[in-house]
Amino acid sequence: MGSPGSRSRFTCVRFRCAVAYRMQRLYNPQWPKLPNSSTRSATHFVLSRLRSAAFPPIEAKTDILTGGGDSGGLAVMVGHTAASPGCGGAYPPFPDNDYHEYGWNKDLALRIRKFAQVCGIRCEVFTRDGKDVPTSYDAVRAWKPTATVELHFNAVENPAERPDLKGSLVLFGAEDSRRWAQTLQDMMVALYNRQGPRENQGIHIPGPENGYKRGQRNVSQIHPSALIEPFFGHNPREAQIAIEKKQALAEGIVAAYARFAGATLPIGSSNASGLGSGEIE
Ligand SMILES: [Zn+2]
Repeated sequence: MGSPGSRSRFTCVRFRCAVAYRMQRLYNPQWPKLPNSSTRSATHFVLSRLRSAAFPPIEAKTDILTGGGDSGGLAVMVGHTAASPGCGGAYPPFPDNDYHEYGWNKDLALRIRKFAQVCGIRCEVFTRDGKDVPTSYDAVRAWKPTATVELHFNAVENPAERPDLKGSLVLFGAEDSRRWAQTLQDMMVALYNRQGPRENQGIHIPGPENGYKRGQRNVSQIHPSALIEPFFGHNPREAQIAIEKKQALAEGIVAAYARFAGATLPIGSSNASGLGSGEIE
């Protein structure tokens, strides 16, 4: 189960080659984009890449990826609520003129679930509408996921003061969630090509001493779990990139999950930063 050459990996390569390639390419941006060529040549290309020692393949543990029925898989919590939708995004307006985190992330969550289903990964979307944070996580715990992600985006209260602020970060609540948080952060850094500590703002356990005062309750309900802040929505350039890469982010979260559930990743250190203490609740 999960060893190189195992049946699950072979199945993935043979029948899910395009998906597997796209997922792995997220971690290897130098890989060329697949041309719209035949499945046979794409499969051959993926096989040759997977045999290369340069990149460890996703060694899928099928029972973890799919949940094997009524447990495991990826739980997706939409941050905020319809009644209190969180931070607003900047011009250009987000699709459907929905400027706020809740609408943006509800759509993102559905994209994640759809792509997860393509990949054969058990996935469900949860919201906090009408419930407080602990109560909304009761449903997540009952669903018994392998990992949980809560979706947000960042912004500052007064955009005029920091119009160019940009970057990605992840919050997590305990050591049991550190590797999941780092896997998500690595994916976002690659996806948005974040350069240096001002853009790659790292992974953090929330606390008043490090500038991340909010989010402790959100990330301490279940482990492993992590809360992502992929971009600063008040920055017009960031908002535009977010729109362009929204589907890629959805697929990247699924790819990060596959990697987390099926492979061992090196754990990086976090970049402490006083930035990005956006609204969480
Ligand atoms: Zn938020």
